[in-house]
Amino acid sequence: MLTSWIDIPKNSDFPIYNIPLGIAKNKGSKIFAATAIGDYVLNLSTLHNLGFFKDIPLPANIFDREYLNDFVALGKPIWHSVRNRIKELLQSSNAELRDNKHALTESLYKMSDVELLMPIKIGDYTDFYSSKEHATNVGSMFRDPKNALLPNWLHLPVAYHGRASSIIVSGQNFHRPKGQVTPPGSDVPTFSPSKSLDFELEMAFIIGKSTGLGQYIPTKEAENHIFGMTLFNDWSARDIQRWEYVPLGPFLAKNFASTTSPWIISLEALEPFRTKAPGQNPKVLPYLKHSRDDSAFDITLEVWLQPERGEAIKLCTSNYKYLYWTMEQQLAHHTVNGCNINVGDLMASGTISGPTPDSFGSLLELTWSGKNPIPLPNGEQRKFLEDGDTVILKGYCQNEKGRIGFGEARATVLPSL
Ligand code: CA
Repeated sequence: MLTSWIDIPKNSDFPIYNIPLGIAKNKGSKIFAATAIGDYVLNLSTLHNLGFFKDIPLPANIFDREYLNDFVALGKPIWHSVRNRIKELLQSSNAELRDNKHALTESLYKMSDVELLMPIKIGDYTDFYSSKEHATNVGSMFRDPKNALLPNWLHLPVAYHGRASSIIVSGQNFHRPKGQVTPPGSDVPTFSPSKSLDFELEMAFIIGKSTGLGQYIPTKEAENHIFGMTLFNDWSARDIQRWEYVPLGPFLAKNFASTTSPWIISLEALEPFRTKAPGQNPKVLPYLKHSRDDSAFDITLEVWLQPERGEAIKLCTSNYKYLYWTMEQQLAHHTVNGCNINVGDLMASGTISGPTPDSFGSLLELTWSGKNPIPLPNGEQRKFLEDGDTVILKGYCQNEKGRIGFGEARATVLPSL
């Protein structure tokens, strides 16, 4: 059991076992790479300049860059060494940083005093559709409850290529999108702000190792290509989606904004929270076979709604382990045709719904397309999101070995422009 000389509140998302990475900015200071520990942020650029990483072969200004991409490209052994060195410096028994007043003043800040920025310059963005419960719910509502899953769904992890330019970091707000919508039963569109704006509870992983064109990643290699994971809200305009999505899938209903959490959690930190992946029937083709039984991760996920006035309400509790298709299957499928991937690409899971109605990961499902509005503590109700609503995604892992968390992915819906 490791402890730190930094006082870490019980149930903190960021104990010494987590060591997430992000990009931050202090009032008036330059941008720097950071880790989170308890309620504090540690400036890795300052530590590097003061020689705390001298035994690791790191470029001189690697933690001064606008994004983590150049650090990520250094490779897994370097991520591992940096993570271990930070853990070592933060341990109760280690005096190197603890007793160095100058270094502490220069490198340790309260998290509330720091602005957290987009951690990665995202290259390509792919959004999967890997929750069987979500795909079944949406198929029932948009098409036919008797044939909710299309014939391909149980044989391959369905996905579409999304747009990276509009992925924003937690805390950045956005305006309600406008577009073509059709009244029920009509085939003639009108142009208006979306009246059924929704969130999607997702997680994403960041690519940490590139491949060349023509190269394929087997499931057993997949995790070597993953730098870490974040929370991800794939905001969706359901009325725009309903009209535009056939035959090529979502377009303007999804690409106006997606929100990612600022801290990237490594697979090393998630290792104690591995769990069995769901059984798959029919059997998958050999290239999609799991490399191990415990290729899923047990991550509790929550969505909270904070209306403009009154108390916040928890809308759902789900879990990453419910996903039918795992990350290694997603990556194996993505590259099986020779599609190359690059450091900084982002792969999102698709909405993560569980088996019970309180675990559904979107308002579309929670209200069953607006048929069952959700009462709020302030007396209002919600079918879909209103202007001024703030949606907050949270995630954490907890077992007898301890707890680590993801922080949050938060944004407020502003009125349409
Ligand atoms: Ca999605």
